[in-house]
This record gives sequence, C-alpha cells and structure tokens, in this order.
Amino acid sequence: MSKSPVIVGAGFSGAVIAREFAEAGHDVRVIEARSHVAGNCYTERDAETGVLLHVYGPHIFHTANEDIWNYVTRWGSFMPYSHRVQTTVGEKVFSLPINLLTINQFFNKAFRPDEARAFVAEQADGTIIDPQSFEDQALSMVGPDLYEAFFKGYTEKQWGCSPTELPASILKRLPLRFNYDDSYFNHPFQGIPEHGYTPIVESILDHPRIDVQLNTVFDPKDTDDAHVFWSGPLDGYFDHKLGRLGYRTLDFHHFREEGDWQGTPVMNYGLRDVPYTRITEHKHFAPWEEHEKTLCTREYSRECGPDDIPYYPIRLVDEKAMLSEYVDLARATENVTFIGRLGTYRYLDMDVCIKEALDVAETYLTAHSEGRPI
Ligand code: UDP
Repeated sequence: MSKSPVIVGAGFSGAVIAREFAEAGHDVRVIEARSHVAGNCYTERDAETGVLLHVYGPHIFHTANEDIWNYVTRWGSFMPYSHRVQTTVGEKVFSLPINLLTINQFFNKAFRPDEARAFVAEQADGTIIDPQSFEDQALSMVGPDLYEAFFKGYTEKQWGCSPTELPASILKRLPLRFNYDDSYFNHPFQGIPEHGYTPIVESILDHPRIDVQLNTVFDPKDTDDAHVFWSGPLDGYFDHKLGRLGYRTLDFHHFREEGDWQGTPVMNYGLRDVPYTRITEHKHFAPWEEHEKTLCTREYSRECGPDDIPYYPIRLVDEKAMLSEYVDLARATENVTFIGRLGTYRYLDMDVCIKEALDVAETYLTAHSEGRPI
C-alpha cells in the first residue's frame, strides 16, 4: 500500500478492517460522516431513564461462527442474552418465530410436534416448488392463514411493497419450529455487550495507527490515489448515475414510562391497522441492569429519501438488473472495495459483516506482503 488506505464509515465493517491493517503495521484513516462511531449499532445512555438505548433500532449479536464470537468478545464484555419476540395480531399475542405454541394457540389446538407438522403441511401450498418471492416462500412454508396473520401485514409495512415483489431470502431469516423453542435465532452464540456496542467499536478503533475523523463527509472524487474501503451505499458512491437502489429508512418515536411497559424487549405488530412494525423496550436488552423507568420506541418504516439514513436494502425482484450493473461498475472501479450492508447492498447481520471484513483485510494484506498491487 503506497498511500495509507482510507476507510469510509466507522461501523463494524470499517472498524474491523482498520484494526487488521493497523495491527499489520499500516497507518489508516477512518472517515465518518456522523458525530459518532459504531454506525447503526450505536448505543447510548438515555439521560432521563438511565436505560441503554439502541439508537438505530435493536441489535442482538448472534452467530454460528465460533471464530467470530471469539473475535467480537475480545473487545469488551458480552452478557448472555437469548432473544425472544412476541407479536400482536388483533387482540391476541403470539410467540415468534412460529413454533408449536404459536400454531396451537393460533388454531386452538393441542398438537404434538408431528401432528402440527402434518397440519401445517396441509395448509401449505405444495404446488410452489422453487419459491422466489417472499409470498411464495411463506405460502409454501405455512399456508395462507399463518402468512396473513404473521407475515403479510408486517412485511408490507416494513418493506412498503407487496411480498410478491420481495425475495424469498428475507423470510428465510426466520426459523419455523415444531417444538416449544421460542428463541428467535438458531445460532449457538448470542449476547449483548454489557455496556452497549459503542465501546466495543471504540476499542476496535483504539490503536495508535488508526486516525478516526468524525463529522467528515468523504468525497469519492477525492481519493488521492489511496485505496478506499467504502461502507456507504453502493449507488451513493457512483452518485446514483445508474439510478437509485431502494432502501428503507426508519422513524423512531420514543416514549418513557414507569416500570415494565410491555414485559418483553420486542413486540411486533402483525397487521396493517397498526401503523408501526414493532415496539422495542430497551431495558429488556440489558436484563442485568435495574431501572425504575423505562424507555420504549415505536418503529415506523418508510421509503428512504436522499437525506434519510438507509437501513435496509430492499432488493426488489425487478431491481436486479440495476443492481447487477452497479456490481459490474464496482468490480471495474480500481482502488475501491465495497464493504458492509450498504456497500454490498445485502441484508447482512453484524457477524457476517465482521467475517467479511476480516476476509477482505486478509486478502489485501496478503496481496501487499506478496508485492502484488492492491
Ligand atoms: N417478518 C414478518 N413478521 C414478523 C417478523 C418478521 O413478516 O413478525 C418478516 C419481515 O419481512 C422482516 C423479515 O421477516 O423484514 C426479517 O425479520 P427480522 O426479525 O430478521 O428483521 P430485522 O430485525 O432485521 O428488522
């Protein structure tokens, strides 16, 4: 690397790459437009309640990859945490992800696992062989009744379009279980940092060779020949010259109450007549802390405008052509590597961002040590 690499964005992806380079003896600059590090994982204490607030929505660290778990827990203490979610459908509350309790309560039955499996298979649409859309995936998995109660309305609110236009991969994030296991994730390693994500990312970045510049907007035209690792939106790097890829942004409406307001960290709202997708009660993400007051957040999803923060890449089925043109353009652009959820326009979780960032750093450091151009 002739010039010090520039890393744009101080979320997990950027911080991990910066650290790997710094430990290998390279100076790096991390340029961050916001006034803080940690990207959308950023957490801070709410002054009024003392509760640790997940400022950009709930983040639970979970992974099946032990190496990544060992990596992330190097940077601060993680507390054991097993995520559970409920969903309100009309006047009733059900357990998620769909499990035996959900099925029995929804259909007013007392099935054992095999009976429930057979019953749901009867509901499911067996004519859908290789589902491509979210809707087909849901109908082929659980049939129309469970789909409409738990997925259709929520997904329309969350993504602002019909589930027929969304990829099946979104639903594949959620397990379907025929036992009473109501853990939201299947992963064996799960936890939440004792003091939030901000100090974790700060410790990753805390190295004499890493220079973090906050409140600084990076201009892609101004690369100065340095290699750039870009974790901003993929289309944003190219000034949207092929058009705008779709993202969803979120509006957070906070409210404070006494005691325990909803009794659970996340309550989803399955139907469209409730305008928000979910309510988060932040203190339940840190059950090791005690607070008399509580801080809750209603989460509203909407189309991301030019001045909004992008949270979710939509990846509409008919958006594929524009995306692949951007991917071609990215591949043909020398001296830039696109990283993270926004840079690669994929719905990535934190553990995958970290894994990919470690891999990217290794590829570049290996090339450097072999004298190949980076
Ligand atoms: N989903 C749904 N109903 C729910 C929860 C999730 O239909 O009650 C769908 C929805 O399309 C959502 C996707 O499953 O975007 C993935 O859910 P996840 O909980 O992983 O979303 P995240 O926490 O990343 O927003």
